[in-house]
Amino acid sequence: MNLEKQLERIVKENHGKSIKACTDAQLYDSVLQFVKEKMEDKPVIEGKKKVYYISMEFLIGKLLSNNLINLGIYDEMRDVLEKNGRSLAKIEEAEPEPSLGNGGLGRLAACFLDSIATLGLPGDGIGLNYHYGLFKQVFRDKLQKAEKNDWMEKTSWLNRTETAFEVCFGDKKVTSVLYDIDVIGYKNGCNKLHLFDVASVDEKLVKSGINFDKTQIEKNLTLFLYPDDSDEAGNLLRIYQEYFMVSNGAQLIIKELKEKGADLYHMDEYAVIQINDTHPTLVIPELIRILTWDEGFTIEDAVNVVSKTCAYTNHTILAEALETWPLSYIEKVVPQLVPIIKELSARVARKYKDPKVQIIDADKRVHMAHIDIHYGFSVNGVAAIHTDILKNTELHHFYDIYPEKFNNKTNGITFRRWLLSCNRELAALLTDTIGDGYKKDAGELEKLLARIDDEKVLDGIDAIKRQKKEALTAYIKEKEGIQLNPDSVFDIQIKRLHEYKRQQMNALYIIHKYLEIKKGKKPVRPMTFIFGAKAAPAYVIAQDIIHLLLVLSEIVNKDPEVSPYMKVVMVENYNVSYAERLIPACDISEQISLASKEASGTGNMKFMLNGAVTLGTSDGANVEIHDLVGDGNIYIFGEKSDTVIEHYAKADYVSKEYYEKSPVIKEAVDFIVSRQALKAGHKENLERLYNELLNKDWFMTLLDLEDYIRVKDQAFADYEDRAKWKRMMLVNIAKAGFFSSDRTIREYNRDIWKLDQKVQ
Ligand SMILES: *Cc1c(COP(=O)(O)O)cnc(C)c1O
Repeated sequence: MNLEKQLERIVKENHGKSIKACTDAQLYDSVLQFVKEKMEDKPVIEGKKKVYYISMEFLIGKLLSNNLINLGIYDEMRDVLEKNGRSLAKIEEAEPEPSLGNGGLGRLAACFLDSIATLGLPGDGIGLNYHYGLFKQVFRDKLQKAEKNDWMEKTSWLNRTETAFEVCFGDKKVTSVLYDIDVIGYKNGCNKLHLFDVASVDEKLVKSGINFDKTQIEKNLTLFLYPDDSDEAGNLLRIYQEYFMVSNGAQLIIKELKEKGADLYHMDEYAVIQINDTHPTLVIPELIRILTWDEGFTIEDAVNVVSKTCAYTNHTILAEALETWPLSYIEKVVPQLVPIIKELSARVARKYKDPKVQIIDADKRVHMAHIDIHYGFSVNGVAAIHTDILKNTELHHFYDIYPEKFNNKTNGITFRRWLLSCNRELAALLTDTIGDGYKKDAGELEKLLARIDDEKVLDGIDAIKRQKKEALTAYIKEKEGIQLNPDSVFDIQIKRLHEYKRQQMNALYIIHKYLEIKKGKKPVRPMTFIFGAKAAPAYVIAQDIIHLLLVLSEIVNKDPEVSPYMKVVMVENYNVSYAERLIPACDISEQISLASKEASGTGNMKFMLNGAVTLGTSDGANVEIHDLVGDGNIYIFGEKSDTVIEHYAKADYVSKEYYEKSPVIKEAVDFIVSRQALKAGHKENLERLYNELLNKDWFMTLLDLEDYIRVKDQAFADYEDRAKWKRMMLVNIAKAGFFSSDRTIREYNRDIWKLDQKVQ
């Protein structure tokens, strides 16, 4: 193979130019075509049984770099381009980022597809092709505004297929179009991500921002991703989307089974369907409907085999995120499923009297998770503490009935993207130090521990961190117009904006530091606080928190007394590409959710792998990070989950008591409505947030604030003990192997899917 010759040919054919002479965008689409051709040559991963990972979200990020790495030709491509005076990094910038997910849940699905293919397991994703995906965030007047993200281009990773199905709704019938994206494993074969779309979708329906006529289903079905659970409007559209996905998915699975010559009565020997959160739940009644209507199954036989084929992953215990739909909505959108759902509900009601486990409740609402638990064979949580809370608290009525169904699968991240691609310098140093076995077996990162006293290795890790901070400084200067100091400590909190994640607590710390500096107490080293977060457009308090962060950024950065010691940046439109630049540059990783609320988190794992030290609560996978690195290599603070759960049970948390008791808390909270803040910001937003913190504070910010300040101050102080900090970085990297999604997927396969692995 001569890569240069082949690329030259494509560039010539497409643009009539040489590699040297074409624009970055032209070169991008040619490299894209080259890579797609290479992937087509790779064998499709096959086997008797296949997993279908069905999810409303796949936050795949840009694909060029990752596909080059997984094909094993990244270096060669970079060198060929360099020889022609071109830069691969520049060309990558021309690639648009699809926003087919909100955050962690969608990103997890993308990491899983990478690991499934890397392990040589037959497994495809099933989802939707949203034309504008999740909104693009812009800041205007220190407020979030939502715009459409126009990511689909003429040449893209999407391959339009001939596959099309009819999907019947109560009042209309639509025809789907299937787009596939090839998913290449690291030095392995290919699986597919199937993204369904409607032929009749009309992009012109979008008038301004992300507003569109929600009633014209044929035209709007795949325009946007539902921006979150807190958006009250558009419920019906969401059900249309969910049913559209699962009906297409079910038809595709049955088509593939028939092509394989499978006996549908033994469907479970050929297929396993992993239901990612409750959003795809309707796949269960839909499969039962198809088997009984079209394949002559009795309801008994259909329920039986579908229940042996479907497995459910729970991602949250937040009540507002556990979907329940009024039966009347489902009746309106998909009346054909209503008799099946009623039958499933009646079967449960005959066996179990407990109202907490019913599918249709007394208010005629359908509990989607309950369908999954009764009619799936596996229920898993996504971190050890989360699964324990499901078993003991949230779902304990179900655990009593089906203890054998419950299992834990602690989340993971693909190291191809979150190390090899986003931090090539660190990957190279690791290869020099411990060999490259860690690329296939992440557990080998532990070999690094033997070098804990090796100054050369420690200084090498530290130098790379410094280099990444410089690169981020340049990027933020260009994108946000804010000058950072790479000698400062980089403290980063990037994740969806939600009160339970408590960005507001971080903001209160910043206020506290600001006021200290104003009083003359200067930090020994400058501090940089970086945020990135989108908020659901309908989530009012989340918008107010973004506003506060933007107000603080202006106050702090523009104050000549303070800004030499402290900077605050809220980056615009936080997404996967931004994460890939921020994470390698981080010193302190903020993972400060209220204990019990963050099911796992995966941002925490990405930071750890890149040598950041976690400042966090005992929540989600932080607990497992703590167990792995030990007390000396993490900063843990705040109340534990049992205490928090008890506060909720007794309803005895009163935020005002904490405010009145502590002068430090009072001073920080009052600043939100100080004359200075009101001058920089909007009264309405700031007062609403202030009142919320004082009178409700549902996620108990003030409960943990003092401890947070104490422990965070300690982390900043420890940073000055450079020898100690470098060791902490090394230990975090060395212990991160457990969080490879390859490990997670091996466990899914061992306990749930039971697919034959193709020898690599
Ligand atoms: C990893 C990731 C997330 C999840 O972050 P958490 O801190 O686990 O909530 C969200 N968004 C993007 C773009 C990510 O890459």
